[in-house]
Amino acid sequence: MAKPQTAGQREWQVSACKGKARFANGTLAHRVAKERAKKKGAVIVYHCRWCGQYHHGRPQ
Ligand SMILES: [Zn+2]
Repeated sequence: MAKPQTAGQREWQVSACKGKARFANGTLAHRVAKERAKKKGAVIVYHCRWCGQYHHGRPQ
């Protein structure tokens, strides 16, 4: 039985996508993440279920 998605989860997905830089593939996203990490600290790359591309986020 699949769990119904809560409003909170949906909101998180939108905020994890909206207004963020998109990367067409993981290789590119990781390359840019490395450069960013030098200036601003650790960056994680994640695949977005919303738009199907990759974004940068902060490590948890
Ligand atoms: Zn996205």
